[in-house]
This record gives sequence, structure tokens and C-alpha cells, in this order.
Amino acid sequence: MLQILNDMDEVFDVIILGAGAAGLTAGIYSSRARLSTLILNEGTIGGQMIMTDEIANYPGVETTKGFTVANIMKKQAKNFGCQIKSNIRIIGYNLTGNVKTVHLTDGSSFQAFEHAIQEAKKNPKISFIMGSELREIKGNELIEAVMIENLATGKLSEMKTDGVFIFIGYLPNTESLKDIVKTNDRNEIITDADMRTNIPGVFAAGDCIVKKYRQVTTAVADGTIAALSAMEYLRS
Ligand SMILES: Cc1cc2nc3c(=O)[nH]c(=O)nc-3n(C[C@H](O)[C@H](O)[C@H](O)COP(=O)(O)OP(=O)(O)OC[C@H]3O[C@@H](n4cnc5c(N)ncnc54)[C@H](O)[C@@H]3O)c2cc1C
Repeated sequence: MLQILNDMDEVFDVIILGAGAAGLTAGIYSSRARLSTLILNEGTIGGQMIMTDEIANYPGVETTKGFTVANIMKKQAKNFGCQIKSNIRIIGYNLTGNVKTVHLTDGSSFQAFEHAIQEAKKNPKISFIMGSELREIKGNELIEAVMIENLATGKLSEMKTDGVFIFIGYLPNTESLKDIVKTNDRNEIITDADMRTNIPGVFAAGDCIVKKYRQVTTAVADGTIAALSAMEYLRS
């Protein structure tokens, strides 16, 4: 059982950090098993999948857009009752003991390194849209506009543009966890084959763990195993 603390305390059977392919898959399995499940996501729902224009190697689907797969996974998880909170910022964890606690605050703040933020702020050609997520890229032959959702109001607005460059980052965002769970020298989380970390009741999956091949299929497989292992842990 995990507890999330912000202005209001809430308790869930399973809390998943990250709504990429691994986290959304774990959310689908966990909520389908009727465990109360919350996914907390610091960035855009879908993770790296939304940066992938075309996915041609996902078995059972000839060719699809990363954006489409991400949205279907999100819908599947929600349909099973999984709650998803995005644009949050995690400010602390207590992962020892049977009840784990995650402390968070609302997001809309920058998550990049301070010097990069300052450089970008100095550039008069750059403006920032905070607390929002990209929902759609529009256009026929060429990109014409994007639809952006304000996460506080749910309002969608269209912005004309000639091009879109999506970049979130590649290094695993495990800095805040590295003194809690065991990681290697590249900050990748060390798990066993059942996605268990060194802390009972804490599992890791996807690109953030130590592994050689980082693909949607491997993230989905890891997320499945992590969710099934979490169910077994909760049963025991
Ligand atoms: C340009 C590009 C093209 C690719 N093409 C393909 C392809 O064709 N086929 C293929 O199979 N794979 C492809 N990949 C790789 C594949 O997309 C990834 O391996 C896979 O999506 C990883 O999923 P994940 O859930 O492990 O991690 P991610 O997709 O990185 O998701 C992690 C999520 O967690 C959030 N997050 C991070 N830290 C925290 C935190 N502390 N708390 C809460 N949330 C947090 C992030 O914002 C993100 O939403 C491609 C990758 C890229 C970048």
C-alpha cells in the first residue's frame, strides 16, 4: 500500500511513477486487477512514445504513430479505473516500511538544469507555455498547428506553427531515487528478473532500469512483470 501526500492525503494500493510505455502498462495490469492505482507523471503522458513519429516494430500493429499508441494506452488504463495525475513534481519519498509515501507538489515548473533554463530565458525568440501538454499535431503534407491543453482548466487552444521538435531528455530521471534504491554508475535502477529493486514493495520497469535494449516492447514487458510482481507482493 502506498500513500501520496500533498494538500490532501490519499492512499492507493499501487503508485506508479511515470506514464511512459512501462508505467501505463503497469497501470493497465494493476487497475484491471482491481487494485486502486495512481500514476504520477512529471512530464507528458506517453513519455518517449510521443517523440516517436512512426512505430513499425510493435508486434500486432503494422505501423502506427507513437502518439496514437500512447493515447490508447492511457485510455485503456483509465477505462480500468487507473487515476493519472500529470504535470506534478515529486519532492520526496519514504519507501521503506510497508506503507510507502510520496510527497508531491503541483508541476508547471522547469525540470531542466538551471543553466539551461537561464540561457533559454535570455533568448527573446523563446516563449514558454507552462502547465500544459501537447495534444495534437495538425497538418496535411506539412505541420500547420498544434493543439495544447491547459492542464489546470482543461482548455484546448490551437497554435499555428511550421514545425515541432519534441525533446524531453534521455538520461534516466533517477537522481532523487539513487540514495534510496540501488542504481549503477549511470543512475540506472538495478532490478532482478521480476523487476524487484532492493527495497521490498518497490519495483522498477522500462528504460530507467539496467538493461541493454530500450524499446517500447521491452518497456511494456517490464511494466507487465512489475505489475504482476507488485500484485504478488501485495497478496503476500
Ligand atoms: C525518437 C525516438 C524514437 C524511438 N523509436 C522507437 C521505435 O520505433 N520502436 C520502439 O520500440 N522504441 C522506440 N524508441 C524507444 C522507446 O520509445 C522507449 O524505449 C520506451 O518508450 C521507453 O518507455 P518507458 O516507459 O520505459 O520510459 P519513458 O517513455 O521515458 O517514460 C517515462 C515517463 O516517466 C516520467 N517521469 C520521469 N521521471 C519521473 C518521476 N520522478 N516521477 C514521475 N514521472 C517521471 C517521464 O516524464 C515520462 O513520461 C524510440 C525512442 C525515441 C526517443
